[in-house]
Amino acid sequence: MAELPDAAAYADVVARIARAAQAAGRDPADVTLVAVSKQQPWEAVAPVLAAGQRVFGENRVQEAMARWAERRGEIELRLIGPLQTNKAREAVAFFDVIETLDREKLARVLADEAQKQGRTPRLYIQVNTGEEPQKAGVVPPEADAFIAACRATYGLEPEGLMCIPPEAEPPGPHFALLAKIAARNGLAKLSMGMSGDFETAIRFGATSVRVGSAVFGARTPRA
Ligand SMILES: *Cc1c(COP(=O)(O)O)cnc(C)c1O
Repeated sequence: MAELPDAAAYADVVARIARAAQAAGRDPADVTLVAVSKQQPWEAVAPVLAAGQRVFGENRVQEAMARWAERRGEIELRLIGPLQTNKAREAVAFFDVIETLDREKLARVLADEAQKQGRTPRLYIQVNTGEEPQKAGVVPPEADAFIAACRATYGLEPEGLMCIPPEAEPPGPHFALLAKIAARNGLAKLSMGMSGDFETAIRFGATSVRVGSAVFGARTPRA
């Protein structure tokens, strides 16, 4: 049975989050675990759902809909992967939170869809703190202007910022930079930290951590 090890890994991550929050003088309740279920077999996800986890992250719209459509009412679902504008309609209809708003064209399409559907997912702006060319996200020098445009031009009120630090660098300075950009723009929420660095992220103020493999085990590659 796969149930026991998976739920045990989940319980361990929950405990580590609480310890990291306490060590930082923070309330563990102020750090949300987003369990990243992308590319995981259902046998890995079911025990975590059964153990009480209710916030899940997926990085592809189609895959998320296939997996969660029947259980949509039970959980909070977050899109943490890049969003193409041609999938914006489905994303606005399906997700509670979209964490990857990173360009004006997408802001415009999301605002239009929110108006049409009468439903606005909570939004995070993705910041490419390492200014990596292959990575999505607005670069730090353009972040303030982009946040202002989301508000003034598109009538969107983002709830926070999200980042994925470069793999080869210590994450702390990237988390600190994200926190600084959020603070000066009046944004309260920080989505940062993954399996390898969520405790560091909590120390730097993460209000949600996106943890996949530490909860569910290694992902199976997509076909
Ligand atoms: C896959 C993914 C995660 C989870 O990564 P792990 O290292 O398995 O915890 C977190 N955030 C984003 C944006 C991802 O794509």
